[in-house]
Amino acid sequence: MKEFDVTIVGLGPTGGTLANLLAMHDFSILILDKEKSFYPLPRAVHFDDEIMRVFQTIGITKDFLKHTIINKGTKFVNSKNKVILDWPRPKKITDNGWYPSYRFHQPDLEKKLRKKLKNYTKVSIEQNSEVIKIKNSKNHVDITYLNINNHNEHLIRSNYVIGCDGANSITRKQMKTKMDNLGFTQKWAVVDLILKKKKNNLPDRTIQYSNPKQPATYCRNVGRRRRWEFAIKKNHSDKKVLSENYIWNFLKPWLNKSEAIIERKTIYTFESAIARKWRKGRVFIAGDAAHLMPPFMGQGMCAGIRDASNLAWKIANCIRNKFDETLLNTYQSERSLNVKEYIETTMRMGEFVNAVESIQITDNIKSDNQGIKRMQSIKPKLGKGLGNLRDKNRGKIFPQFKLNKNISLDDNFSKKGILILSSNIKTKALKKYPFINSKKFKKLSVYLKNINSKAIIVRPDRFILGSAKSNHKINLLLKKYSEILR
Ligand SMILES: Cc1cc2nc3c(=O)[nH]c(=O)nc-3n(C[C@H](O)[C@H](O)[C@H](O)COP(=O)(O)OP(=O)(O)OC[C@H]3O[C@@H](n4cnc5c(N)ncnc54)[C@H](O)[C@@H]3O)c2cc1C
Repeated sequence: MKEFDVTIVGLGPTGGTLANLLAMHDFSILILDKEKSFYPLPRAVHFDDEIMRVFQTIGITKDFLKHTIINKGTKFVNSKNKVILDWPRPKKITDNGWYPSYRFHQPDLEKKLRKKLKNYTKVSIEQNSEVIKIKNSKNHVDITYLNINNHNEHLIRSNYVIGCDGANSITRKQMKTKMDNLGFTQKWAVVDLILKKKKNNLPDRTIQYSNPKQPATYCRNVGRRRRWEFAIKKNHSDKKVLSENYIWNFLKPWLNKSEAIIERKTIYTFESAIARKWRKGRVFIAGDAAHLMPPFMGQGMCAGIRDASNLAWKIANCIRNKFDETLLNTYQSERSLNVKEYIETTMRMGEFVNAVESIQITDNIKSDNQGIKRMQSIKPKLGKGLGNLRDKNRGKIFPQFKLNKNISLDDNFSKKGILILSSNIKTKALKKYPFINSKKFKKLSVYLKNINSKAIIVRPDRFILGSAKSNHKINLLLKKYSEILR
């Protein structure tokens, strides 16, 4: 029987990111996907700076950047087209070292993730391979999959299995865990178009039409791609809504039939749900398999990539340093709180688009001097897990510092954690660990001072594990968490 360090079920954006992050550790990885290739039609169209930083770790940004555009933000307008809320995404590099928000075409990303995986000789991808059974044992997992072309069954063994197999996840079913519905279920039509030629009078921003008669969303996507989404009225059948007549009639205020081609029209039930258990022994779920949210904030795929980034280094640590129950249990507790905040904010945004204007989407809304309400992006911390919850810096994202024009501190810790110390921390124990002396880099010194710390440990996924103000405190942190620096 063939054996692998890790098997990943599903090669969508979550599986593709996770596979790349794990492949960097030189593990043997099998990826099984039931389709013959990636899904060729548009789905996700937006991601943020935190996600671009993960793509940077994987090493695809150089190649992928040309397929993206910088997103200028979202405006919410009422039925009279008056702006009632503005969510700007200023073209300014953030702490993550990238612009706050990007637009892209999901198949372009999936191609780049796959292309990068080809660089790793120990990664095998098997398409047309549908996983049908996952058997969890103490020391390994057995996976049965079916070759869809010839119906042959195969059995393989793996140290760990991660189901990145989407909303109808077989992995989740085999784990016998349920999804909890968080309360938003609505049918919307999604229409993707390609403009035949430039059309300058279409908005450059995303527009959310908070119109009680017809809640809708417009997205300015890459190149000539544009998307409209609209809520389906109760008395309208799916067939009627997807008819050419209905769609072109809906699009009349913006476009006529001669100006664009419909690339895809479909109906989605926008849902908000989260799985009760994300891990059973050596089996995990990530991405849409673990949580679902409506697309109003463009954060569904982003959440899956955050899962991959959280889980990859923990699994890597367990394979290198033997199975460690505690470390793996922190995956769900850290991630679920973070994703819940995105789901709940997205649900409130959905209600706002449904024209429930009294809904307060976030606490970060302030009126400017023209009386326009402006919203800021949310930055949820990690839930309970590694580190001490009383440490105010724990669970925050560590900024991406440039050490010089070409090299960033991120490039130094793609696989391992990093210890950063100010020069007044002196102890023998530190001789054991590689560290960066903040004195050498002024920005780092200022940062440590601002967060009122003399030492920090940053995890491989760029979150702060803990901060300390004294020799004693840093020694305690190192005693508990030194593994991640190895
Ligand atoms: C209209 C719309 C707009 C969206 N916009 C955004 C956006 O702007 N930003 C954003 O971040 N997100 C957005 N999303 C969400 C985003 O598309 C999903 O969250 C994302 O695709 C989930 O990725 P995934 O890899 O977890 O799952 P998927 O992309 O669903 O991939 C799952 C993979 O698993 C495979 N698979 C399933 N079962 C098996 C099996 N038994 N055996 C083997 N393989 C299997 C499938 O073939 C598939 O390749 C949007 C979604 C929709 C519908």
